[in-house]
Amino acid sequence: MLVDLHSHTIFSDGRSTHAEMVEAAIAKGIGIYGIADHLCFHDNPWTTRLDQFEEMRSTFANLKANTTSAKILFGMEVDYVRGCENRVLRLKEENHWDYIIGSVHYIGDWNIDSNAADWEGKDVDATYTKYLELLEEMVDTKLYNIVAHLDLPKKYGHFTDIDFTDRYRAIGEKILANNMAFEMNTAGRIKICNEFYPRRDIVELYHQLGVDVTLGSDAHHRNNVGQFFDEAVALLKEVGYSRICYFEEGQKRYLPL
Ligand SMILES: [Zn+2]
Ligand SMILES: [Zn+2]
Repeated sequence: MLVDLHSHTIFSDGRSTHAEMVEAAIAKGIGIYGIADHLCFHDNPWTTRLDQFEEMRSTFANLKANTTSAKILFGMEVDYVRGCENRVLRLKEENHWDYIIGSVHYIGDWNIDSNAADWEGKDVDATYTKYLELLEEMVDTKLYNIVAHLDLPKKYGHFTDIDFTDRYRAIGEKILANNMAFEMNTAGRIKICNEFYPRRDIVELYHQLGVDVTLGSDAHHRNNVGQFFDEAVALLKEVGYSRICYFEEGQKRYLPL
């Protein structure tokens, strides 16, 4: 059975409804399917608005009660920005999310993954450094369950020559200590970088450290649910993973790969 914990709907920047996404997941044999729309603390067109949460809660209540072919999980992809902790905590209590995917999409006021042209004139190495610093701060809050797209700055093909292994190890050790997981996010395969987030050597490092992994397609349309999962599962097995995890009501559970 497959797990996909990372999808978006029309509540944020996806183009399909919850029902359409669930139908696509079931058709692809995904037995545990979590939708995690964006919640961002910057005002932008891709965040779920606070006035949509009531409708979102009832949408999930209906889906959970009426879907028999898959387990449906209510997740949220929540941006980390400095000082957001109390707001995250309050929304978590209000919404009873099964899990929170923690993301960094902003460095200061710059949304690094919404427009390739915005990278013009930017210092790539400094961007990676800052990105990882924020990611580590996010893990330190202990508010999140899953760390999203560990090497997102590569999205538009910007790679760094700096060896960040020690930084990734430090983050991995904290993910482990905080009983979190990282995701194999397959959406990078349809971006300019054309590889999964994170790249293979980070997956190998995290396997050595004993960090749990989960799977997410980061689908923004029903056609992309479970995209490249055969390839991702093969890679995880090659690296040595024999199980993947998911979170239900905040509790970590495992499935054999
Ligand atoms: Zn994201
Ligand atoms: Zn996402």
